[in-house]
Amino acid sequence: MANDTGVPVFDTLRWPFDNSYARLPERFYARLPPTPVTAPRLIKLNEALARELGLDPRHLASPATVDMLAGNRIAEGSEPIALAYAGHQFGNFVPQLGDGRAILLGEIVDTRGVRRDIQLKGSGPTPFSRRGDGRAALGPVLREYIVSEAMHALGIPTTRSLAAVLTGEEVLRETALPGAVLTRVASSHIRVGTFQYFAARRDIEALRLLADHVIARHYPETTGDYRALFEAVLARQAALVARWMNVGFIHGVMNTDNTSIAGETIDYGPCAFMDAYHPNTVFSSIDQGGRYAYANQGRIAAWNLARFAETLLPLFSDDDDQALAQANESLQKFSGLFADAWFSGLRRKLGLSDAQPDDEKLAQDLLNAMAANGADFTLTFRGLCDAAADPDADRVVRGQFLDPTAYDSWAERWRRRLSGDPATRRAAMLMVNPAYIPRNHRVEAALAAAIQDGDFQPFETLLAVVSRPFEERPEFAAYAEPPLEDERVLRTFCGT
Ligand code: AMP
Ligand code: MG
Repeated sequence: MANDTGVPVFDTLRWPFDNSYARLPERFYARLPPTPVTAPRLIKLNEALARELGLDPRHLASPATVDMLAGNRIAEGSEPIALAYAGHQFGNFVPQLGDGRAILLGEIVDTRGVRRDIQLKGSGPTPFSRRGDGRAALGPVLREYIVSEAMHALGIPTTRSLAAVLTGEEVLRETALPGAVLTRVASSHIRVGTFQYFAARRDIEALRLLADHVIARHYPETTGDYRALFEAVLARQAALVARWMNVGFIHGVMNTDNTSIAGETIDYGPCAFMDAYHPNTVFSSIDQGGRYAYANQGRIAAWNLARFAETLLPLFSDDDDQALAQANESLQKFSGLFADAWFSGLRRKLGLSDAQPDDEKLAQDLLNAMAANGADFTLTFRGLCDAAADPDADRVVRGQFLDPTAYDSWAERWRRRLSGDPATRRAAMLMVNPAYIPRNHRVEAALAAAIQDGDFQPFETLLAVVSRPFEERPEFAAYAEPPLEDERVLRTFCGT
């Protein structure tokens, strides 16, 4: 095909969709297209991710594709569906949630052979919208874009952001805000809540189909053994949440419908990274009891996995008592796996290349001193990289502590414990202790510029900074800094 300038044009709407979820029975989803919008305008395209998906980014910016990313056109091979799911929200079970403002366009097998969901978020109402408008405001779309891409760059499993478009329409929240649609890419959108949806309906046949689908798609090594499946999901969640905590990330809304069966971070509503370390830190405006506070996240993941186990009981055994005993036995593995992942992460952050019995106390004592002294989580660990090679660099880390002698006494113990070549140790530490995280005040400033002034430059710059989090670049030095007193953001909002 060629256009009138003679330039060959790819049929951009022919994406290589292969939609395994849409082949599951009709009660797993509702079939419907996205709702078209008035004036789609592309604001961001993730070219690296597009290439990973086997799509040519040059064709992605074409008007036809932008229409598709806004929900105004359906690509060939796409079978749009809204997925059904349930979930415990802040501990309360809701038997029907589902994609109330998202549409799965289909799945693509990427260049490494991994099947990925392509989903529009903010694409209009669905049968699962309840009282919602099915739309997303620009702010939350940009927040998800920045933070999910930052998580990916930090090496943490996550859903990704392929594109963001403005809809040309307003959405009404507390005020009228610009509407936007995010194109989200995920290993899948199957959640603990998806299993709960069928368990609540006592639909054992659907549970079995769903479990078989998950095994084939995410856990082929468990070869049809549902208990092995459960333990594999449990292991991925334990590793995931430990990795969040190793970078100071607070998810903020760890409901079972936001717990991915594939073990990816999903749902960047009220999430935030800590500046000053404190285990009780909460940002979400709706988390008044601190249920999803930083240091609770391991316990909450275990609680969510217990809910997952309940849905699988009929698949574990026909004998109820036996099924329950099996579930409990598997669940007990969580705390050990989580503690191992968390402490081995801390050990790497501290430059300890082997494991010794007192390491956990050493790490915990540092965290306690940081909490008592208002030390910045990211800067303290980044500063330790240099201090691990050269005691003269202690100056920088000491400066993080209200009482620097709290650091001095800890650092003395740490130095006695360090072994091996200092330069090697420093290099290894620099690869696990980021210089840049999407600090909340920076995120808020980028969103405000985009929403109030239509200025996307701060968003672009922040994205560039957090996309290479381990590499210090002098021109971005200010992005490593915590907020000034009057810049501090204490609350984040879901903005749904
Ligand atoms: P979330 O807080 O994003 O995890 O969403 C929880 C549930 O509310 C999901 O079922 C969403 O689809 C639904 N939801 C959130 N925002 C909206 C909205 N604006 N319109 C319709 N449904 C929504
Ligand atoms: Mg959600």
